[in-house]
Amino acid sequence: MSEKLIDPIGRYRSGDFAEQRQEWPGLQREMEPVPDCGEASYVGTGRLAGRHALVTGGDSGIGRAAAIAFAREGAKVAINFHPREQPDADDLHALFAREGRDLTLLPGDLTDPDFCAQLVDDARERLGGLDLLVLNAGYQQAQKTIEDISHEQFDRTMKTNLYAMFWIAKRAVGSMPRGSAIINTASVNSFNPSGEMLDYAASKGAIEIFTKGLAKQLAQRGIRVNAVAPGPVWTALQISGGQLEGGVRKFGQNTPLGRAGQPRRTRRALCGAGRAGQQLYHRQHLRRRRRHRGGIAFQQRRGSMPRGDKSSYTGKQKRQAEHIEEGYEDRGVGHEEAERRAWATVNKQTGGGKKSGSGRGKKENHESARRGGHIGGSSQSHATRSAAAKKGWETRRRRGNG
Ligand code: NAD
Ligand code: MG
Repeated sequence: MSEKLIDPIGRYRSGDFAEQRQEWPGLQREMEPVPDCGEASYVGTGRLAGRHALVTGGDSGIGRAAAIAFAREGAKVAINFHPREQPDADDLHALFAREGRDLTLLPGDLTDPDFCAQLVDDARERLGGLDLLVLNAGYQQAQKTIEDISHEQFDRTMKTNLYAMFWIAKRAVGSMPRGSAIINTASVNSFNPSGEMLDYAASKGAIEIFTKGLAKQLAQRGIRVNAVAPGPVWTALQISGGQLEGGVRKFGQNTPLGRAGQPRRTRRALCGAGRAGQQLYHRQHLRRRRRHRGGIAFQQRRGSMPRGDKSSYTGKQKRQAEHIEEGYEDRGVGHEEAERRAWATVNKQTGGGKKSGSGRGKKENHESARRGGHIGGSSQSHATRSAAAKKGWETRRRRGNG
């Protein structure tokens, strides 16, 4: 079966968004267009059957995408959200009910430490356990300068994004069984701060270190801790103060693909990090892949591919497989089958893993390159190969794929 190519540009929205603004926290049901959290597309295959998940900020956006994916993978799900977001939570509840699923709604304000502790206890009791914790709630208010950030805003940003994560994790870990997972939502701002999101970026940077440190600490208890770090995603966060005045219209257009991602694109990273079988997802930051899809996908910063030994494949082959796999998933093929087909296609097209070339070592190749000779069994000189690679990159960049 031949692979149908999907042009990532224009796949979702590639033009301007209508300028829009809502009072914080914003309702995604009133956004134009309404974010796509996988309501109509996610097909589960029971990969999280028997699991008990609590997702903060689960009414909308990335949290909603996680809640939908987890439930369709067989997990029991509870979501927390701010009481002002009841309408979005009710919409999700209705979707679950139509599918014959239960969704536990646990509204409350995460800036209150007592509520955070109570939330963990209530989720555990209502779900009959707690072994998958997605600490995803976030607060983002853009301000031009440091002088524009009030003490209250700074405090609220830190309390929502960082303190609540600490309060909830602290309460939860003692009773999470071995094999459990915690997934924190960081951001591309954890690594590359936007000037107009000083407090937000600082909190997200702290989440990266918090995640790594907690992962080290909990490894011996058999609890994996990871973070996802999305680029620009079309959610209520952005239209309720997350962008400067006038910034919504062009939101996401400064990425290589020239558009924002949709929340549904985060589901694979979240599901992957949550699964008990994914032992390699430990202390990882799954972050935006900068060159490939521009703000919507994630990659593991360190470590190997999630399943099997794919270390003999080149980065290009891995990206190709991931792209093909997503295409299958979008057409309703289950994750495991999509992955199998993707790798079968890559193997067929490239004849398997990395070519070892002439078998010469790195040092030898380097020596050869220095002398201007051939490297890696290629008939091109080092200089020619570099020029060709650069030209290819330039072409991809011009086309917007670079
Ligand atoms: P969203 O507005 O849909 O979700 C954020 C959620 O945070 C809200 O739904 C709300 O339930 C919760 N929240 C905020 N303050 C709260 C409080 N005091 N009490 C209880 N709940 C509270 O937007 P989203 O983009 O899906 O955000 C989810 C996470 O993704 C956030 O941590 C955000 O920082 C992160 N993120 C988003 C983007 C993006 O471009 N949208 C990029 C990188 C990271
Ligand atoms: Mg919301």
